[in-house]
Amino acid sequence: MLDVNKIRADFPILSQKVNGKALVYFDNGATSQKPQVVIDAISKYYQEINANIHRGVHTLSQLATDAYEISRGKLQNHINAKFPHEVLFTSGTTHGINLVANGFASILKPGDEILVSAMEHHSNIVPWQMLCEKTGAILRVIPMNLDGELIMSEYDKLLSEKTKIVTVNHISNALGTVNPIKYMIDKAHEAGAAILIDGAQAVPHLKPDVQELNCDFYVFSGHKICGPTGIGILYGKEAWLNKLPPYQGGGEMIKEVTFEKTTYAELPHKFEAGTPNIAGGIVLGTAVDYMNEVGFDNIQQQELELLEYGTKRLLEIEGLKIFGTAAAKTSVISFNIEGIHPYDIGTIIDKLGIAVRTGHHCAQPIMDFFKIPGTIRASFAFYNTTEEIDVMVEAIKKAKVMLS
Ligand SMILES: *Cc1c(COP(=O)(O)O)cnc(C)c1O
Repeated sequence: MLDVNKIRADFPILSQKVNGKALVYFDNGATSQKPQVVIDAISKYYQEINANIHRGVHTLSQLATDAYEISRGKLQNHINAKFPHEVLFTSGTTHGINLVANGFASILKPGDEILVSAMEHHSNIVPWQMLCEKTGAILRVIPMNLDGELIMSEYDKLLSEKTKIVTVNHISNALGTVNPIKYMIDKAHEAGAAILIDGAQAVPHLKPDVQELNCDFYVFSGHKICGPTGIGILYGKEAWLNKLPPYQGGGEMIKEVTFEKTTYAELPHKFEAGTPNIAGGIVLGTAVDYMNEVGFDNIQQQELELLEYGTKRLLEIEGLKIFGTAAAKTSVISFNIEGIHPYDIGTIIDKLGIAVRTGHHCAQPIMDFFKIPGTIRASFAFYNTTEEIDVMVEAIKKAKVMLS
């Protein structure tokens, strides 16, 4: 069992007061808080080894390069990629998806099809729409049911020899649904299509095994797994990364440059143009080490308890409706209270120190599907407690009285 009080002591921000009240941080779906080891590792990098990487012969440059590549290795192990060069550092999930979508511009022809799910984050919709505009490809949507589950029989029907790539999140940020990605990956491959998994909401809760999953691409952001902002990972199978053209041109990604012709560097450098977020890359390794020390079994156990307890307590509030009632769910509860705008609840409970997200959660099509303007989303992390849920429930009851 997780000693939550001990864990909480690792996160200095959690003992802060906000608006004069003890902070209750339930906006982990937007970004996670950072443990002291991560905060310290950022300072340590700048205090001790700051230098540009992969270039200098001098000692600091080599130390920084080694630390950066060691971190890549940690991420490789963490997701069980076959090779370190299949693990690209990006600025985050959004960057990773855009990189792949951009690469597919050289592969798609008019009439080819891209399948996205009905529960994607905007960053896994818009890059594909832009790709369709560029290539004449067609975007098709895998529908969901009222529980917020993708309908697999419809997915099977949508797949055809026209499908070139399928893109779906592992876990929905707005509903918490855990999608049946293993099934979806196998089916995509049977149809001859590639598949990208947006793992941004999954990696805070579980350790993906990309070889076992057999996905072609898997993307996530560091800031949702206790790491800094501005760093993320794009995993791609070697064959795909060799096939796709570079995304950005610049330093670091070339073998040889003349005005007549430039040749590109080997993986992973081909996709890592310019000076990267060196500190971020190194510290992402520290963040992953931290999460593994806490242990994903412990994390899941704690979060499941929070999900069950939170669901039960919230449903005691009259007129409260939860959106996202899939059988397979993670610790995200999206809800509304009849007759009250989510924003008003969010504003009042913020005054009581409680941080939740309100709005469309960068997933407007989901809100349209449920015919609502948005929801209140409480997303729990392993450092949250059932006592904090009690505080939130009391605050919502108060807000409800004030607003009705
Ligand atoms: C947060 C999130 C993204 C976008 O991540 P960025 O870090 O903003 O690039 C994409 N997809 C899902 C499911 C997310 O939760």
